[in-house]
Amino acid sequence: MSERIILDYSIDILKDKVISVVGYGNQGRAQAIVMRNHGLNVIVGNIRDEAWERAVKDGFNVYDIDEAAEKADIALLLVPDEVAPEVYRKYIVDKVLHKDHFILGFASGYNISYGFIKPLENMDVILVAPRMIGAGIIELHKMGRGYPVLLGVAQDVSGKAWEYAAALSKAIGAIGKPGGIAIKSSFEEETMVDLMTEHTWMPLLIASFIIYFELLTKEYGVNPETAILELYASGELAETAKAMAEMGLFEQFKLHSRTSQYGQLTRLDKLLKNSFLWEFFKEEAEDISTGRFAKEWSLEQKIGSPIYRALLNRFKRSPIAEAEDKLYKVLERR
Ligand code: NDP
Repeated sequence: MSERIILDYSIDILKDKVISVVGYGNQGRAQAIVMRNHGLNVIVGNIRDEAWERAVKDGFNVYDIDEAAEKADIALLLVPDEVAPEVYRKYIVDKVLHKDHFILGFASGYNISYGFIKPLENMDVILVAPRMIGAGIIELHKMGRGYPVLLGVAQDVSGKAWEYAAALSKAIGAIGKPGGIAIKSSFEEETMVDLMTEHTWMPLLIASFIIYFELLTKEYGVNPETAILELYASGELAETAKAMAEMGLFEQFKLHSRTSQYGQLTRLDKLLKNSFLWEFFKEEAEDISTGRFAKEWSLEQKIGSPIYRALLNRFKRSPIAEAEDKLYKVLERR
């Protein structure tokens, strides 16, 4: 398989395989349902909790994770990244050691990129990482539409690892339909783009909301509700994001007034001339590519995530969050 962009692929290579979905959460449930709709033999491995009950209710054969791994030819590890290394070591390794060949699939590059999971030598290790939330995967499947997915191969014992990755991307509903595209990427590239989103433009967006809110409500007499509706509560932001996806970053400018376009373009130009922003992005890219962030997060988890919990508490009690709570109660969103 030489092409970098794959729009469709046969799932035949998966037809004689038992596919175990490990973790029946956001991704696990969606991927399991869509793969079963493609006629594949899907079982679920989970801890005995509500997700287990949901999988049973959805009509799957559900097993403890070790038993599911033993029965499977392919295991898709769809548990949260921070628990995946323990789940792999505790429940999967021993059960697949003796197999001639096994396929271990991930939806995120994190644990392989940073060496938190070191796969056995009898495994193809593949990445099939949807650029879509679980609920979206099911919704798009019902609408007959696909979505983007990044593929990667970290170990190719069978010589067919890319084929398995491409076939799985079709099986989970990503390709073979309008809107669907699979890109031959890597565990490292997926980790880089995923973490960069989380460390740069997402917090920058929320930081701008906070500064906007505090400045306008404290110094310019703007009502808190007006500011929050303007920023994100009205849903206009989501519509603009949708237009960016469908029309393109600058083509969607035509949906805004000339006054808006002029204001956006001149201030964009001013921001891009600010070296602080470039330095901030560069620093984050370095933290990710050198593994500094992964080390920081591992240490934080080892001591019970005190910084994570303290920050979440602090921001949940910030002026914007308190004003949002009042507004959302009026709007019956909570
Ligand atoms: P979820 O948080 O939805 O959890 C998945 C499952 O793992 C749940 O069934 C959960 O059980 C179970 N689980 C949690 N803790 C443990 C544990 N200690 N031992 C065993 N099972 C456990 O995960 P996601 O679906 O969000 O993420 C799965 C993978 O997909 C990750 O690699 C993620 O990076 C990737 N991904 C996620 C996307 C998303 O939209 N969320 C998008 C693209 C990729 P319970 O419900 O009881 O907690």
